Amino acid sequence: MADTFDLAVVGAGVMGLAHALAAARAGRRVVVIDRDARANGASARMSGLVTVAGHAPGQMWRRAKRSREVWAEVCAQASVRIEHEGLAIVARRPEAATTLEAFAATEGGAGSSFYLPDDAHALFPQFKGDIAGVFWSPDELRVEPRSAMAKIASWLEEAHGVAFRWETAVIGVEDGEVSTSRGPISAEAAVVCAGDDFRSLFAERLSAAGLTRVKSQMLRVRLEDGYELPGAVASDLAILRLPGFEELDGVAALRARLEAEQPECLANGVVCLVSQSADGSLVVSGSRQADPTPDPFQSQAIDDLILGEFEAVLGKRPKQVTSRWIGTYAFSSERPVIVDAPSERVRVVVAASAAGASSAFAVAEETIAGLFGKG
Ligand SMILES: Cc1cc2nc3c(=O)[nH]c(=O)nc-3n(C[C@H](O)[C@H](O)[C@H](O)COP(=O)(O)OP(=O)(O)OC[C@H]3O[C@@H](n4cnc5c(N)ncnc54)[C@H](O)[C@@H]3O)c2cc1C
Repeated sequence: MADTFDLAVVGAGVMGLAHALAAARAGRRVVVIDRDARANGASARMSGLVTVAGHAPGQMWRRAKRSREVWAEVCAQASVRIEHEGLAIVARRPEAATTLEAFAATEGGAGSSFYLPDDAHALFPQFKGDIAGVFWSPDELRVEPRSAMAKIASWLEEAHGVAFRWETAVIGVEDGEVSTSRGPISAEAAVVCAGDDFRSLFAERLSAAGLTRVKSQMLRVRLEDGYELPGAVASDLAILRLPGFEELDGVAALRARLEAEQPECLANGVVCLVSQSADGSLVVSGSRQADPTPDPFQSQAIDDLILGEFEAVLGKRPKQVTSRWIGTYAFSSERPVIVDAPSERVRVVVAASAAGASSAFAVAEETIAGLFGKG
């Protein structure tokens, strides 16, 4: 006789795994179904930075803080290495310094610091050139996404008894049953976490959510042996992308300067977010181009813009680019997370920003509490 589960989760990306964990912790029998042989969507292609600073004040910031706590627990229990902690945002312009200093004084900046140039150069010798200061948040942590997803899935299976059905496409979700390419699976409730595939399941309902897809170019580079970053590193361009900074002093002036000085970067959504892996290589993100059907091509011109900002901040141009890849994610300018309830026992959850991995565990706890109650 076929197994019956309390919860079927569609998608084994970070959002799906987060829901599996929250339900398993609540004592539920869970099955995770993914059409691929392993996580290969945004969760496997992202930078892997779990961020706290820069989320919109209120609910998103609270979710990021709670998710960061759960990430730390999961990393410890699932043997996921934390590659590094903390985020430095280097102000290349006084307008950026004004914004970062203002942010450090807000509730969302609690625990963070802003260093003026002399202190910043002394504390962070990696940052070269004429900088206007450095913002430092100690809360961020970085995981290596592909291996992290695999380890979390194995740990959920072994330590929490979560069942996985890989290479199995879900073609329909009804109350009490999930239809798949390998036959039906019985489950009292279901959560659909299908990432940027919002056109297959509940497409009609999701069409009202203002969703599109975003393409992001990514690079892995090497500097000299022994090179070490203090944590993740970003610069002025990233400030305009962080919702928690939107209303702060200096942002409008920074935008005007960047529009005049780096218009191509703004047009292609280029930021320079650099993080480091255990082997010393640096992962450099990226660009943001919205398109309902992102093309698969890596533009050299955009890579050059990303590497130009890298050089401006770190004072070096990487000698070697060891790999390049494209990631896509769901995006909505209206809401960073979409949670829909097509029926009492079914939820559809879409992370619709470039920071979905940073809120996933908190979002999942909310969904599971809503489906099964808190206790
Ligand atoms: C390049 C890049 C960099 C990023 N950097 C960061 C970062 O540093 N920090 C951060 O917080 N966020 C980052 N993000 C965003 C983050 O990666 C996403 O928000 C998050 O991974 C989304 O997780 P998900 O589980 O919803 O989607 P996905 O990881 O895309 O997973 C969806 C899964 O659902 C499966 N699926 C879909 N439809 C079906 C179906 N019908 N049947 C069976 N399986 C199905 C897919 O196979 C896939 O495995 C980045 C994204 C990209 C692309």
